[in-house]
Amino acid sequence: MKLYLIRPRGFCAGVVRAINIVEKALKLYGAPIYIKHEIVHNKHVVNSLKEKGAIFVEDLNEIPMGSKVIYSAHGISPQIRNEAKKRNLIEIDATCGLVTKIHSAVKRYASKGYKIILIGKKKHVEIIGIYNEAPSVTTIIENTKDIDLLNFKKEEKLFFITQTTLSTDDVIDIKKSLLNKYPNIETLPTSSICYATTNRQNALKEITNNVDLVLVIGDPTSSNSNRLKEVAIKRNKMAYLVNSKDEIDPKWFEGINSIAMTAGASTPENIVQSCIEKLYDFGLKEIEEIIYKKEDVIFELPTQLLNV
Ligand code: SF4
Repeated sequence: MKLYLIRPRGFCAGVVRAINIVEKALKLYGAPIYIKHEIVHNKHVVNSLKEKGAIFVEDLNEIPMGSKVIYSAHGISPQIRNEAKKRNLIEIDATCGLVTKIHSAVKRYASKGYKIILIGKKKHVEIIGIYNEAPSVTTIIENTKDIDLLNFKKEEKLFFITQTTLSTDDVIDIKKSLLNKYPNIETLPTSSICYATTNRQNALKEITNNVDLVLVIGDPTSSNSNRLKEVAIKRNKMAYLVNSKDEIDPKWFEGINSIAMTAGASTPENIVQSCIEKLYDFGLKEIEEIIYKKEDVIFELPTQLLNV
């Protein structure tokens, strides 16, 4: 059995920055450091930071007044920022810059009188944060069917934007239907699906047709990991999303000659390597790395942590 190991895979610049922020904050201020929501959607990352003294909370009321709080890479609503100020929390922002860009666009267009159509998963924390920038004028849609339910007037000023980690295939269809219904709808000049999501999906598309099975290493709560699995399934390929070597089932490989492996943007490389090791028990003989694109994106740390 041959494994095609796809690059780029795993950590993106936003995830590297978010993890660095937690580690440096722990070093500078000492434990405990509170984090609103999982810093990134990966239980291995979260557990290792918990061991170092990070405490993950969903509700700011769980944080003692005056403590330090880090906002996760997925971003936060302005209401939560206000709540933090009322509790005298010292805020450290690990929101990915590419998510912040969407918050800013929504605020800007809402202030100019546009109605906002936000394309994304309603329950995803990134979408909840963005929606709350302008809740009275924002409508979230998840798919083309939701477009049928929109009843904006043709003369209304409309703006659409997407979550950073959606499927590029799905967004092409949604965009087409939106433009069909509202030809004057506006958006940003470039896609708001981030570079890491786009690269990982495009890289997988290049190889999917040449393999029998696709393995995506990632957390079940990770949006971009789930989208990678969908990329393969949409191309009629057997695909599994696993978060550790123990979830790999030997039955999957009966009669299989070739596998493609990728990993979501929040998956640590050591987890990928442990999954590869496991595949040797199930008949892996050869590995070839497939390089779609080299990534050299780096996001700067917040000023208070730059010299730690
Ligand atoms: S997946 Fe994209 S948006 Fe999310 S943290 Fe990484 S670079 Fe930023």
